[in-house]
Amino acid sequence: MVQSAVLGFPRIGAQRELKKVTEAYWSGKATVDELFQVGKELREKNWKLQKEAGVDIIPSNDFSFYDQVLDHSLLFNVIPDRYSKYNLPAIDTLFAMGRGLQRPATETSPAVDVTALEMVKWFDSNYHYVRPTFSKTVEFKLNSSKPVDEFLEAKALGIHTRPVLVGPVSYLYLGKADKDNLELEPITLLEKLLPVYAELLAKLKEAGADTVQIDEPVLVLDLPAEVQAAYKTAYEYLASETAPKLFLTTYFGDVRPNIASIKGLPVAGVHADFVRVPEQLDEVVAALSPSQILSVGIVNGRNIWKSNFAKAIDFVNSAIAKVGAERVIVATSSSLLHTPVTLASEKKIPAEIKDWFAFATEKVTEVVTIAKAVTDGTESIAEVLAANAKSISARETSSITNDAAVRERVAKITEDQARRKSPFGVRLAAQKKALGIPLFPTTTIGSFPQTKDIRIVRNKFTKGEITAEEYEKFIEKEIADVVKFQEEVGLDVLVHGEPERNDMVQYFGEKLNGFVFTTNGWVQSYGSRYVRPPIVVGDVSRPGPMTVKESKYAQSITKKPMKGMLTGPVTCLRWSFPRDDISAKLQAQQLALALRDEVQDLEAAGVYVIQVDEPAIREGLPLRAGAERDDYVNWAVESFRLATSGVEDSTQIHSHFCYSDLDPNHIKALDADVVSIEFSKKDDPKYIQEFSEYPNHIGLGLFDIHSPRVPAKDEFVGRIADILKVYPQENLWVNPDCGLKTRGWTETRASLQNMVDAAKEFRAKY
Ligand code: GLN
Ligand code: ZN
Repeated sequence: MVQSAVLGFPRIGAQRELKKVTEAYWSGKATVDELFQVGKELREKNWKLQKEAGVDIIPSNDFSFYDQVLDHSLLFNVIPDRYSKYNLPAIDTLFAMGRGLQRPATETSPAVDVTALEMVKWFDSNYHYVRPTFSKTVEFKLNSSKPVDEFLEAKALGIHTRPVLVGPVSYLYLGKADKDNLELEPITLLEKLLPVYAELLAKLKEAGADTVQIDEPVLVLDLPAEVQAAYKTAYEYLASETAPKLFLTTYFGDVRPNIASIKGLPVAGVHADFVRVPEQLDEVVAALSPSQILSVGIVNGRNIWKSNFAKAIDFVNSAIAKVGAERVIVATSSSLLHTPVTLASEKKIPAEIKDWFAFATEKVTEVVTIAKAVTDGTESIAEVLAANAKSISARETSSITNDAAVRERVAKITEDQARRKSPFGVRLAAQKKALGIPLFPTTTIGSFPQTKDIRIVRNKFTKGEITAEEYEKFIEKEIADVVKFQEEVGLDVLVHGEPERNDMVQYFGEKLNGFVFTTNGWVQSYGSRYVRPPIVVGDVSRPGPMTVKESKYAQSITKKPMKGMLTGPVTCLRWSFPRDDISAKLQAQQLALALRDEVQDLEAAGVYVIQVDEPAIREGLPLRAGAERDDYVNWAVESFRLATSGVEDSTQIHSHFCYSDLDPNHIKALDADVVSIEFSKKDDPKYIQEFSEYPNHIGLGLFDIHSPRVPAKDEFVGRIADILKVYPQENLWVNPDCGLKTRGWTETRASLQNMVDAAKEFRAKY
């Protein structure tokens, strides 16, 4: 019988239970017991759901209160001294490392003031993990029993699970050296780390685990030779009598370039992502020994589209033909963490379209269905298959997915449309004249705190409890407050604060043709921050202006330049669930044309600074160097330029990037007049060099907006002084890392005031 496997299930809960209790805990409104209780209930629910669906191999330890990679850092005692010195309870250390912690002394405990660890994109997804950070004093030891506890918890419910661990090579390679230890290459710590893995594996075996899913996703990256070689060392060490069987799991890409690292490893089987790279089947099969099992990742863990059963079954059958049914497992391509929990709560999506979707819960059933079809033959589920085929062909032929006018406009795009009128120097002179911006200009990235108030009123509006007019009044008042606030603090280029936006992509999606929305389709982005990605279902176009009213109003109430605020084409696409029936490039072009019209409308309305955010441009980069990556860079850059190049020289185009290690060359190619980059957590001084050749203007983010911590003025001064050692002062902007929407007003005011005061100090000097 061909078994079915799920590699991981979303932990946030169908009603965002995890977010609610975590945030309540942070604000002192829930106890630690309540927090743990909700965690326990969520795990139980997820396991039972999978069990009832008929999944044979169900994961455990896929749950996390913040991030699964951070859990491993706690587990292996990879806790820099600046956190451990406070002797906080483990759960608070976890949160301190994830999001920073600043709190005054109490009678029983000293004051705490510590920044968060760096957080970066998880491969090419919109999930972020907390980067393992290895300081000089790192001493690996087994510091918790989480994987064992969760295995036993499931066992007590009568559910035998396959615990999930991040494998040692990936864990190290995804980490970095701490600032006290910059010469360290984390992979050199492998031999010290392995005994701790072995100890953990032994405990899992004692608890009754027969197999462990060991995730080595870095196998889809271009790996240096010493990392490729580390696999043999690691797995020969770990495979032993005292360990459960190890199931080596890769996902999100192509393992072929590292296939030599896998060959001959003493593991029970290998999982690969055949949704992404079906072409790798032969080579993966060839790398297996006759006793090793092949886990066929065939149900897409990264999108919301229903599987095409006929195709999937064919593919699994081709794998069976190569290795035999007893050696094949049917699985999700990756963890289902990246898809919303269930379609069941979606009541508003038109039935015709809803029928094209499958979320995590539905995907679980798909895996079981495919496994059944290849075991018992397609006749056994003829009806299910017929319904699936009908739904697939309905989407292919639907009028929703095709708009001739949009296709035609894309076909007519010219090269000129993607070039500004003049080179940067000429534009800069025109902008200086038009905008009157001082040296060390201060600005923010766009959003200001989104208080409960705003959310309540927005909800009322969505539900029709208040009129559009009332809502508009409220938004105007918010904008006016934010403008006043910025003038008080003394910022130079203002923003309207984005109070009308629930989310930087959804907001635009709602105003464009071609998107649909979920009511509850949340996906974890990081920690307690979830996003609800819109879904691109058809060709995209702009029926009318999207942001002009708010920006125009904001500009009308201040003499300072107001920055219009848009989300770029690539980010709109990356942070949506894209279509899988036309290319990403074509979808980006459609979005770019819609945004181009918006940019021109803003300019016409008197908004002469326009920021087009592209924080997701990096995450879309194909994971390996080569033709596919070059092609991506080309169309990503072109679509940004297409969106932004329709303005006069005197209009200043900004862009913003966060969350990832960017390539300065890609940023340069966008030819924005000013870019702002998340930077405050890059503690290696060499990073300051990275953009030093950047020809246009630049703002390296000066404080972490994920944390409520307030940096003192001197901290800003020190930071700017460091940057000035490398950058010419006339190129520098002064800004935070990113938007302030998740922050509170108190820390926002304090941080920005210190930042502005620091900028003024420098301005006085030059
Ligand atoms: N303008 C957006 C904001 O400030 C940018 C958000 C982002 O880069 N993630 O919220
Ligand atoms: Zn950002």
